[in-house]
Amino acid sequence: MKGVAVLGSTGSIGQSTLNVLRRHPDRFRLVALTAGSNAELLGRQIAEWKPRFAGLVSGEGPACLLEAATQPEADIVVNAVVGFAGLAATLAALRAGKRVALANKESLVVAGELVRAAAAAGGGELVPVDSEHSGVLQCVAGREAALRRLILTASGGPFREWPRERLDAASAEDALRHPTWRMGTKITVDSATLANKAMEVIEAHHLFGLPYDRVEVVVHPQSIIHALVEMADGSVLGQLGFPSMEQPILYALTHPERIDDPAPRRFDPVAAGPLTFEPLRRDVFEAFEAGVGAGIQGGTAPAAFNAANEIAVEAFLAGRIPFGRIAEVIRGCLAAHQTEAVTTIEVVQRADRETRRKARELAA
Ligand code: NAD
Ligand code: MG
Repeated sequence: MKGVAVLGSTGSIGQSTLNVLRRHPDRFRLVALTAGSNAELLGRQIAEWKPRFAGLVSGEGPACLLEAATQPEADIVVNAVVGFAGLAATLAALRAGKRVALANKESLVVAGELVRAAAAAGGGELVPVDSEHSGVLQCVAGREAALRRLILTASGGPFREWPRERLDAASAEDALRHPTWRMGTKITVDSATLANKAMEVIEAHHLFGLPYDRVEVVVHPQSIIHALVEMADGSVLGQLGFPSMEQPILYALTHPERIDDPAPRRFDPVAAGPLTFEPLRRDVFEAFEAGVGAGIQGGTAPAAFNAANEIAVEAFLAGRIPFGRIAEVIRGCLAAHQTEAVTTIEVVQRADRETRRKARELAA
């Protein structure tokens, strides 16, 4: 019996996690829940699960995330908080020796070195929830040393085929119409700009210890193949399935084991239809290029990229800037940012704070 804490339980990944836990009461016991703001839904979740601990960040402040992440009875912490706000809980859980089932990719983007150090110091373990990274892990588990190259797949988002001029003026409603996945609004916009895929490249670099020239991206509009993995002997393995986050969530809880679980929709290759691949339009999706560039640069550059992106997405969703300005704000912030080595959390927090200020100026 494993104790599980779910941070961000009212969100898309949080609710999918509870669906998974509901099917396996013999294996998992929910011990803590936190939500950012939706008190009404959190209240219903508390009534259903009766966890030992529950916290509402908008009421009690962010310290409740740390309390949930370090509950003595929690073996696994599912971090499904969105944005930079998830970092402190990832670090605290790893330092406390927990397994972190990480949906909050921003943790690894902004402070990959610190996250890895926290795991090493506390004996914690990081297991990805992100479907692409889960796919990679499911292919390589136990054979990490033979991993040579990754090809992460991208659906291409709602603007995959849009001409540049039309894309610059796309509305929030257009951006929120994702072709293959139903997710929270922030990651849905990130999937439209392809900033999400840049974050996933950085995430893969840290999770699997590969240099950036061995992490590639290909557009695969059907979202059936989640990752392609090249091994030392040239063999390429893939992980497939109809899009559903419940499978990668369950795997993050049980890795390296697999347990019986009915697939939400049984895989059928004929129903999946033709699987196609195309290059990512790097000249059009400038947020992707900027994000991968920040990853390669390293230090605080990815934290600046993330902060600029969070503010730009917020401004876009509020109708203050058009879609085309998101990448401009990111590029402006990165140009102004003085990159430093990431030695402490304070360095990352300062880069985050200062870049947010700059991004608010640029997005005004
Ligand atoms: P969401 O917006 O649906 O949910 C976010 C959750 O975090 C909610 O419970 C919200 O109340 C809480 N929250 C928001 N701001 C907070 C704050 N400042 N402090 C504490 N809690 C806060 O988002 P989501 O789609 O579930 O995504 C969560 C994370 O998982 C993101 O990092 C996203 O990139 C990642 N992810 C999501 C999917 C998906 O399918 N939704 C897939 C892969 C990765
Ligand atoms: Mg993903």
